[in-house]
Amino acid sequence: MKKTSQQYLTNFISKLTITPGKDSCWLYSAGRLKNSKGPTYGMYWDGEKSISAHRYSYEHLLGHGPVPDGLYVCHSCDNPACVRHLFAGTAKENSADMVRKGRSCRGQKRSLKRFTDEEKKEIHELRASGVSQYALAKRFKRAESTISLVLNPRAKKPRKPKPSPVAVAASSKRKTVWQRLDDQLHAEVAGLRRVA
Ligand SMILES: [Zn+2]
Repeated sequence: MKKTSQQYLTNFISKLTITPGKDSCWLYSAGRLKNSKGPTYGMYWDGEKSISAHRYSYEHLLGHGPVPDGLYVCHSCDNPACVRHLFAGTAKENSADMVRKGRSCRGQKRSLKRFTDEEKKEIHELRASGVSQYALAKRFKRAESTISLVLNPRAKKPRKPKPSPVAVAASSKRKTVWQRLDDQLHAEVAGLRRVA
């Protein structure tokens, strides 16, 4: 039987490490994504999709409901695993927030064409969990073809070895007189060998 949203919420809470204290962070301690600097934010299966733990918390545990379109769930503390100190902000606020906390490192930078390692992982995970490319494109606000490229990176073409000058000459249709004579000679020699 499918779990109810209340059961998913209870399950979510069971994955948190909560130290008592008015201002202490609530840490999501189950499956967290990693980047080059170590684990970052967690991912949670909400019964329909894989969603970042802090977003799930913002919507369900903290009870703010769906994050308005175009807004991100940002941390007001400096802990990506925290699912308590959250606010909905614009991308600008999110990055301004990160700059202030010295977290706007290269890996986090968003550009139009590039995805962060976390985003790529998220895309792969979401796709693996059944989310369509179309839905991913909507979610990440990129073209479906871009999502497709993240999922199936173009294999690098192996470099063709440079053909030797001899081979080039042999393959060339416009052979010089000397080359034609050379070919003739070779053919004759081959013929003599066959006879012998
Ligand atoms: Zn916190």
